[in-house]
Amino acid sequence: MMDKDVALVVFSGGQDSTTCLFWAKRRFRKVVALSFVYGQKHVKEVELARAIARKADVEFHVMDVSFIGRLGKNSLTDTSLRMDEVKPEDSYPNTFVPGRNLFFLSIAAVFAREHGISQLVTGVSQTDFSGYPDCRDAFVKSLNVTLNLAMDEQFVIHTPLMWIDKEATWALADELGVLDLVRNETLTCYNGIPGDGCGHCPACRLRREGLEKYLSGKLKQK
Ligand code: ZN
Repeated sequence: MMDKDVALVVFSGGQDSTTCLFWAKRRFRKVVALSFVYGQKHVKEVELARAIARKADVEFHVMDVSFIGRLGKNSLTDTSLRMDEVKPEDSYPNTFVPGRNLFFLSIAAVFAREHGISQLVTGVSQTDFSGYPDCRDAFVKSLNVTLNLAMDEQFVIHTPLMWIDKEATWALADELGVLDLVRNETLTCYNGIPGDGCGHCPACRLRREGLEKYLSGKLKQK
């Protein structure tokens, strides 16, 4: 029997999935977090994720899917590649890990099924700066149908951040009462520095711009 009041969050310990973790905690009776190790250069990410899950009082699991990083060339898993700090005009930046969300969500669904869970939560966003194809709404909806057909189940993939930008993601974290936790304890930086990060990689820039916009908007309201 699938319990509709339990959710599995695909959880990296970054700003987006941490916000989703707390979003899910408010919405579901029980939340389980699943992290993936996929050969990313910063394995410390997983330890930060574990610490956040502990604070959130959420069951935490890690799965090794390193084969994903070996299948295609990308700068998150290949130390010989220099990360694109600017998106090339005619293609995706080399931080794109082909198939990552396809694998993550598919594996998460099998894992969820084994645990009697039908609700999946992912922090992907179509508003995401690089426009990774597997962060788009059409992909998630299509995969949802495919997973249901593949396992004859009624999974629901929740994407609370799909249509909001970084500023609104910070607002959501604040509303959930975890702005400081997200700001100080998550890791979004491509150079592996937690909290405010290195400051210059694309992930840090996007995160900081969103935070600055949100905080200055909040000040004006006062
Ligand atoms: Zn950075």
